[in-house]
Amino acid sequence: MFFKNGALLTEGGSVLAFELNAEMTLSLFLVAVGCVVFQRFFRKRLSREQYFYLRDLSLVAVLMLLALWSGSERVSALVACSLLSMVVGLADQFYPGRGLYAFIILPGLFFALEGASISFLSAPASENTTVLFLSIWQSVLLTTCWMTLFPILFRRLDQIPGLAGHLLCVSLSLMVCVSYFSRQNLDEAFVVSLVSLVLVGAYWSRLGHHFRQLGAPLASLWGTIIAGISIIGVSKGITLTALMVIPLGFYALPLAEMSLGFMSHAFVNKSSRPIPDLYTRVVEHGVDHPAAVRLVTEICLLVGGGVSLMQLLPDSQALKLVVPSMGFVMVLTLWAFCGRRGRSGEKKSIWGVKIDGISMNYALSKSLAWLKTPCPEFRLVVTLNALGLYASRKDTFFRQIAAKADLTLPDGAGLVWAMRMLSLPVIERIAGIDYMDRLCRLAAVESVPVYFLGGKPGIAQRAAENLAARHPGLKIAGVEHGYFDRDDSEKVANRIRTSGARLLFVALGVPAQEKWLDLYRDSLGGVLAVGVGGSFDVFAGELKRAPAIWQKINCEWLYRLVQEPWRFKQDLRLLSFMLLILCERLNLLRRKEDAHA
Ligand code: UDP
Repeated sequence: MFFKNGALLTEGGSVLAFELNAEMTLSLFLVAVGCVVFQRFFRKRLSREQYFYLRDLSLVAVLMLLALWSGSERVSALVACSLLSMVVGLADQFYPGRGLYAFIILPGLFFALEGASISFLSAPASENTTVLFLSIWQSVLLTTCWMTLFPILFRRLDQIPGLAGHLLCVSLSLMVCVSYFSRQNLDEAFVVSLVSLVLVGAYWSRLGHHFRQLGAPLASLWGTIIAGISIIGVSKGITLTALMVIPLGFYALPLAEMSLGFMSHAFVNKSSRPIPDLYTRVVEHGVDHPAAVRLVTEICLLVGGGVSLMQLLPDSQALKLVVPSMGFVMVLTLWAFCGRRGRSGEKKSIWGVKIDGISMNYALSKSLAWLKTPCPEFRLVVTLNALGLYASRKDTFFRQIAAKADLTLPDGAGLVWAMRMLSLPVIERIAGIDYMDRLCRLAAVESVPVYFLGGKPGIAQRAAENLAARHPGLKIAGVEHGYFDRDDSEKVANRIRTSGARLLFVALGVPAQEKWLDLYRDSLGGVLAVGVGGSFDVFAGELKRAPAIWQKINCEWLYRLVQEPWRFKQDLRLLSFMLLILCERLNLLRRKEDAHA
C-alpha cells in the first residue's frame, strides 16, 4: 500500500504532515509508465473504438486502485462519486435528450452525506480571521451544489475539443502546488491531485488532444474529481479555503460564460444565438483552434495562478507586486495575440495560392462526399509543401492550378509554419501520404475503385498491393508506371477513365503531376485526383517513412534527405522560402502578392 508506506496516514487514520518520499515518487512513476506502455501495446492491436474503450476502462481501473491504496475514506468516497458521475454521463450519452443528466446531482449529494462536506468558510489565515460555520443543511446544500456545478462546467468546456483536458491539467498542477506549499496538512488533496495529474499526463493523447473531446462520461468524472479535491482541502478544519478558491479563480472565466449562457437562455430569448465565449471570439478573429485553446488556457492559468499566490502569500509584500504583474502579463498576452491575429482577416492566400487550413477529418469527409456523388465531376486535390509553394512563385501555370484546385492541403511543416506566421487559419499539417492512406481506407469501405499512376515500373503495382493488404476490400481499378511517353498521355487518361476508377492517385513529382492532371482533366472524366509525390515509393517499401518522432519534431524532410541526399540542393531553397515568408510577415512583399492575387 504505497500511500500508507509513504507515511500518509497514522494508525488511527488521522493525517500526518506529508512528505513526497522516494517510494511514492517511484510508485507514481511506475504507474505512469505502466499506463503509457499499456496504451502503446493496444494501439496497434485494436480497432480505434476498442482502443478508446479500453483506455477509458484502464483509467477508471487505476483510479479505483488509488482509492483502495490510499486507505482514506474520503478519497474512496471521492473516487466512488466520480465513477457515479461517469455512469450518469454514460446514461445521458446512450439515451440523449431524456434529461438523464439531471441525476448528476446524486453523486454530489452522496459525497456531501458520506464523503466530506464544506462545514465552514473562512478567509486565508491571518491574525483576525473570521470563520463562518455552516449548519448541517447549509453544508449539505452548498457541497451538493459545488459538486454538481463542476461536472456540468466540464461538459460545457468539452464542447470545444481539447479545452477541458488542457484546463484540467493546469488546474490540477495548481492544486498540487498549493496543497504542497501551503504546509497545512492537505495530504489527501495533494495525493488525489498529484495522482490525477500523473494520470492526465499518462493519458494525454486521450484527455488533452486538441481535436478530441472527453465525452459526457469522462467530463463528468473529472469535473467531480476537481470539485471533490477542493472540498477535501476545505473540510480539513483549517483556516484555509485555498483549494476552493483556486477552482473559482481558475475557472472564473468559463464559469462566468456558462452562467451568462444559462441566464440568456432562461430569461432573454430561448432561440437567440448563444453568448459567444472567449474561444469563439478568438476563432472568429481568425485564430486557429489549437492556438485559441492555448490562449484560453493561458488566461485561466494567469487568473488561477494569481489567486493561488494570493492564497499562499497572504498579507505579503510580494503580493503587491504579484497581482499587478499578473494583470500586466495578461493584458500583454491578449494584446500580443489579438494584435497579431487581428490582421488575419485580410490575408487569405500566400502569393495568390489559397491553402485550405482544414483538419484531416474535414478533408476526408469532403473527399468522401465527392466520391459518393451520383454525377461526379473531375476534382483535384493538391498536397502542397513549402518547396511546392516556393516553386509556384515563378511557375504561373502551377500557381493557377494550385489556386483553383478543389482542395489545396498543407503537406509539410514548413508550409504550416508559414501559414501561422502570416496568420492564415490552419488546423494541422495534412501529410499527403497520410491523406492517401486514410482515403484508401474509406475507398475500401465504400467500394470505390482506385487507380495508381506513377513511380518507376513495378512501384505502383507494389504500392497498390500493399495498400490492398492494409485495407482489405480495396478495389484496384488499374496501375501504371509514371515513365510513359508523354505523347501517349491522352491514351493513359482514356485508360483511366474506362477502368471505372473513381479515385486516382498520381505520383509523377510536384508540379509535373498537377500539370498533367490539369491538362488531361477532360479526358479523365469524373475522378477525384490526388497528386501524391513520392508516396508510392514509401507504400511500395522502396523508401522508409520517417519514424513518428521525426514527424513530431517537424524533421521529416531531414529523414528524407538522409535517404535521398541528392535533394540537398533543392532543400536549400527552404531558406529562401523562409526569408520570403519573413518579408511577407513584415509586409515587404505586399505589392508583389497583390499582383499575384
Ligand atoms: N516519377 C514518375 N515519372 C517521372 C518523374 C517522377 O513516375 O517522370 C515518380 C518518381 O519515380 C517518384 C515520384 O514520381 O516515385 C515522386 O518523385 P519526387 O520524389 O521527385 O517528387 P516529390 O515527392 O518531390 O514531389
